[in-house]
Amino acid sequence: LARDLSGLASKPAITLDGVTLPIYVNSGLLADVEPALKSGAEGVGLYRTEFPYMVRDRFPSEEEQIPTYRQMLQAFHPRPVTLRTLDIGGDKPLAYFPVREDNPFLGWRGIRITLDHPELFLTQTRAMLRASDGLDNLRILFPMISNVAEVDEANELLTRARDELLEEGASIGVPQRGVMIEVPSAVYLAEALARRVDYLSVGTNDLVQYLLAVDRNNTRVASLYHPLHPAVLQALQQACEGAHRAGKPIYVCGEMAGDPAAVILLLGMGYDALSVSVAGLTRVKWVIRSFTRVRARALFEEALRLEDPLHVRELLDDALIEAG
Ligand code: PEP
Ligand code: MG
Repeated sequence: LARDLSGLASKPAITLDGVTLPIYVNSGLLADVEPALKSGAEGVGLYRTEFPYMVRDRFPSEEEQIPTYRQMLQAFHPRPVTLRTLDIGGDKPLAYFPVREDNPFLGWRGIRITLDHPELFLTQTRAMLRASDGLDNLRILFPMISNVAEVDEANELLTRARDELLEEGASIGVPQRGVMIEVPSAVYLAEALARRVDYLSVGTNDLVQYLLAVDRNNTRVASLYHPLHPAVLQALQQACEGAHRAGKPIYVCGEMAGDPAAVILLLGMGYDALSVSVAGLTRVKWVIRSFTRVRARALFEEALRLEDPLHVRELLDDALIEAG
C-alpha cells in the first residue's frame, strides 16, 4: 500500500455500497490530537488513562486528573471521547503500586483492582465527569470485564459518583458507558454485558492473548500470536452478534483494527466502527472505501471455512491487491 493516502483525510469512511464505518483513534497523548483531527478521526475510541498515573510517583488526585481529560474532551468535541478507567496490572505496572504475582495476566488487573479499591474508581470517574461539565461527548469504558457482576458494580459506583456531584451542584450529563470485550468469558456473555451498557469495544490485544494462551509480549511464542486464527474470528463474530442482539453498537479498538486484512473481516462481520492508532487511520479508511460490505461479508464467510490463519492472510492479501 505504497500509494499516497493523504487525499483521504477529508473523505468519509464509507464503503462502496454506502455503509459508513466511523474510524476513531486510540490515544493516550495530547500530542496525537492534531494529527488525529487532520486525518479525519471521528473521535477517540480508546484513551488509555494509565498515562496520567504513570508520570507521577503516587495516585493523582481528582483535581490533578481533570485538566488532562478536559483537554481531550474539548479538543475532539463534539466527537465522542472514550476514557477508559484505569487498566493497570498485567503489562501495565505502576511503580508506586507494586503487584507481585506468579501470573500477572491472570491476576489483579484492570477493573479488578479498581473495584477492590472503590476510592480509586470513584476519584477517577468523578474527575472524568467533572471534566465533561458542559460537554456531552464523554464515554466511559470498563476494562478487563469477565462477568456481569463487575459491570453492575462499576455501574453502581459510577451512579454514585454522579449523584454525589449533582448533590454538590455540578451540572454534568449522563455519559455513555461501555464494556471492553477482551477476556474469552466476555465473548460468551456479550449480549448480557451489552444490555447493561451503551456499547461494547473489543480489545483484541488481550483477547487474542487469552484465546490462544499466548503472552502478547513474549517473543518466544510470538509466532503463535495470530489475530486471524479461526478461533479468534469466531469469537469476534460471536461478540458482534451478541451486541447486536441487545441492540447495541460494537467496535474494535485492539491493534487488529489497524491491519488492512483484518479490517475487511471486521467490516464483513458487521462491526459498527473501528478505533486505530493515528498512524494507521488513513490506511484503514482506504480499505473501507475500497470494498463493499457485501464483498467483505463473502470474504469473511470464505475465511471462516479456512483452518489455517496463514491461508486466511493469503485470501485477504489477494483481495487487497485486487482492490488496488
Ligand atoms: C486490548 O487489549 O486490545 C486493548 C485495546 O487494551 P490494551 O492494549 O491497553 O490492553
Ligand atoms: Mg487490554
